Amino acid sequence: MTPRTENSPTAGFSTLGLDERLLAALTTLGYEEPTPIQRAAIPPLLERHDVLAQAATGTGKTAAFALPLLHLVTPDAPTRERTAALVLVPTRELAMQVAEAVHKYGKPLGVIAVPIYGGASMEGQIRTLKRGVDVVVATPGRALDHIRRRTLHLAAVKMVVLDEADEMLDMGFAEDLEAILAATPPERQTALFSATLPSRITAIANKHLRKPVTIRIEREAVAAGTLAKVRQVAYIVARTNKMAALSRVLDVEQPVSTIVFCRTRTEVDELTETLNAHGYRAEALHGGLNQEQRDRVMKKFRANKTDLLIATDVAARGLDVQHVSHVVNYDVPVAAEAYVHRIGRTGRAGRAGVAITFAEPREQRMLRNIELLTKQKIEIAQVPSVADLRERRLDSTRNALRETIIAGGLESYRAIVESLAAEFDVLDIAAAAVKRAESPAGEKEEAEIPSIAERPGSQPRAPGQRIAGPRPSLERSRPPKPGTVRSRPGELAGIYIGGGRKLKIRPGDIVGAIVNEAKLSAESIGSIQIAERHSTVLVPKDIIDHVITALNSTSIKGKKLVVRRDRA
Ligand code: AMP
Repeated sequence: MTPRTENSPTAGFSTLGLDERLLAALTTLGYEEPTPIQRAAIPPLLERHDVLAQAATGTGKTAAFALPLLHLVTPDAPTRERTAALVLVPTRELAMQVAEAVHKYGKPLGVIAVPIYGGASMEGQIRTLKRGVDVVVATPGRALDHIRRRTLHLAAVKMVVLDEADEMLDMGFAEDLEAILAATPPERQTALFSATLPSRITAIANKHLRKPVTIRIEREAVAAGTLAKVRQVAYIVARTNKMAALSRVLDVEQPVSTIVFCRTRTEVDELTETLNAHGYRAEALHGGLNQEQRDRVMKKFRANKTDLLIATDVAARGLDVQHVSHVVNYDVPVAAEAYVHRIGRTGRAGRAGVAITFAEPREQRMLRNIELLTKQKIEIAQVPSVADLRERRLDSTRNALRETIIAGGLESYRAIVESLAAEFDVLDIAAAAVKRAESPAGEKEEAEIPSIAERPGSQPRAPGQRIAGPRPSLERSRPPKPGTVRSRPGELAGIYIGGGRKLKIRPGDIVGAIVNEAKLSAESIGSIQIAERHSTVLVPKDIIDHVITALNSTSIKGKKLVVRRDRA
């Protein structure tokens, strides 16, 4: 495919038939081209076909249904109280995320989308629904509550989306889904998205979807050995620490010529600006540049006048660069195939290359998808510590000194050493000179950057030591809400929860329960370990009883579970 170089960053979207205002919203967000699931699902949905699609989180599936939904459900003020679209999702976190995405994409259309989920006040939701909303994004249980109370009217619904349908079935919502669908008009359009398509899902599809267009995104086969020469490393860091972690990794790796990939054009611009402000020589490359600007950027990169090329996938396609030492994924790419294309740019012509990926905790599953595709392991590493950085700087200083000594021409400097030698030991003089060379006076102290990769019970690692063994299964879900309990940083203690993988409990469920029920901020929760039949979570020791009481009075994944102090 030829790279798009004109000022039409959403050219890839414009062929899909979406409303101009939606295309404008995508341009503002910096999306350059549709992901595979978007390319496959948007046209049939716009043609009002039912769709059965296999797509996991992180593939861009939300926009795949939200964009056509918004296109078809343009708000109609007088009838707004008659909800026009319903999206059903398994969890309250997803309800909030999807409603936010619908709001974000539908801003220029003035569409009102609200999340409706259990655990929140019924009265507040009733007031919101009464005011009139175009799109309801709901968890099944709460949607049914509102239908039964006649506070949610679905008679005018044109489109229903079942998002993460396999999860909803796993959580025991099958009957609720039946009852909700029965309350919608039979002539509605229905889209079903699911990460997996087991027979229970196809049975639902057969019953409720009319001649659906079935979409499975086939994975491109990755030729054996394609990435063999590439060292693949990932750092799991919170979004807020990503920039600091990138700077640290760049300082330690000291890459010669690097491409940093971002998902959107907006991210490319922001990151380029920040990196330049931090003293790197970075240039942006995205679909918004014209050919001349693009050529200029590439010329500088080839001539080593730029250290870092910050690019979107579209802009980097077809690039002819020979020596890329490092490829950095500032975001995990939306499609696993894009990862292969990105990192295939390094490690060429028999050279060793390095691929570095920054993943947020909730994106760890995407890393696993990539591993499945490439059949290669991505090593999860700790963000280099301040000690690693110092060691690295000392190394370069040592090398530079060696070269300087060999190059000679030191006579005038020897005079300074001789004058000081009358007063001090020569080794001390040399050590002081190294100190000044390594960290000039006035330089800011570096701080440690937390990697989220600690497992309970694990031995403390030496700084920078890589993590081997099982992947830590920690996810943090949301930033703290106002009014949440923030504990002081201090000792953590373990809580035992009598349910695990067998009940399909995931770290996000535990974080969600603690944040919502114990009002603890997500970031004060420590690591979470999910075993077959139980789970453990670390929480600040000083409020452990409060958390246990809160968890004992609620359910996790719809089940009342034993919750107590972890004796281990
Ligand atoms: P999802 O799979 O829907 O959870 O989306 C994963 C992430 O990809 C979200 O942060 C989206 O904002 C982002 N995203 C979705 N579609 C695109 C696209 N076409 N280009 C760039 N980013 C996208």
